[in-house]
Amino acid sequence: MLVLAQEEARILGHGFIGTEHLLLGLVHENGPVASVLGSFGLELETTRTRVRDTIGTGENAETSPPFTPRVKRVLELSLREALGLGHQHIAPEHLLLGLLREGSGLAVQVLISLGIDLGRLRQQTLTQLGRPGPLAAVQAMPSAGVGPGTMHGARWSPTQSSCSFCGRDTWETDHFVSSPNAVICSACLDQAHEALQAATKTERELFLASRVFGVPPDETSLESLAVAVSTALGRDSNQEDLTRSIEDFDELQPFWVLAAEHFPVGSKVVLDRVRFLDDYHATVQVRAIYPGGSWLHHALFVRSDHGWRMSAASVREIIGGFGIATPS
Ligand SMILES: [Zn+2]
Repeated sequence: MLVLAQEEARILGHGFIGTEHLLLGLVHENGPVASVLGSFGLELETTRTRVRDTIGTGENAETSPPFTPRVKRVLELSLREALGLGHQHIAPEHLLLGLLREGSGLAVQVLISLGIDLGRLRQQTLTQLGRPGPLAAVQAMPSAGVGPGTMHGARWSPTQSSCSFCGRDTWETDHFVSSPNAVICSACLDQAHEALQAATKTERELFLASRVFGVPPDETSLESLAVAVSTALGRDSNQEDLTRSIEDFDELQPFWVLAAEHFPVGSKVVLDRVRFLDDYHATVQVRAIYPGGSWLHHALFVRSDHGWRMSAASVREIIGGFGIATPS
């Protein structure tokens, strides 16, 4: 399977193997995972096109491009998934579970942008694993290089693998500060320092800017997207606000109301990552912070003449996450 991922990277001329190539490799492979992905409408050509449209092609001719840090993390998570299920090797199923568990790579963004319900995909993959039949084993990857003491600034293994503020993977940063409850990367520390310098005496709470990838369609897009995100997921939004910020709200309203009752009281929604896929689509990583914890979620937002709206697929995923079924 990893050979197929390598081939996909080569076809696209990319000088690295990212999560997107891993996903393509899984679709490419003629096996049980490919049929699970196929049942969600994922075909090789459409997936390739989507990846190409998102990050473009390169001119790299290297025959064995390296794994990105995120892929290493996915491999580590795949091993954990396998071990957690009592399996002694990593099958393509475990790789897909690892991809979904890692949750923030380009592969997941592609899946979200294609309207795929990640929770249901995970469930189907687990079901597939439970079926009898030989698993196509691939080499189990040891988690070498991932762990305490291998990075500057880490005095113990952080409890999270990404910055609590911006979601930057700890592999992407030279220095980070960690405690049992949080990880802060050097970029956020710099931003925080600036924000503190600029803050007035009466201002107590300072927010760090979200990370933006891709090209916003215009200069107000980021701001209007941020407003749509906090309106869609805000506990205090009224009917009119929700109709404006959620796709198909008329139809989904009764289910959304049930789901929203589970949103923690006193939660604050912070947009911590945005990727503009094209002029009309953006994936977001949202952190809901509430007393005692935080909750991370990915969603696809769609732009129309009326502004940004959370896609019906993402809305259904949130509703489904609370165990509430919606008519499809
Ligand atoms: Zn950070």
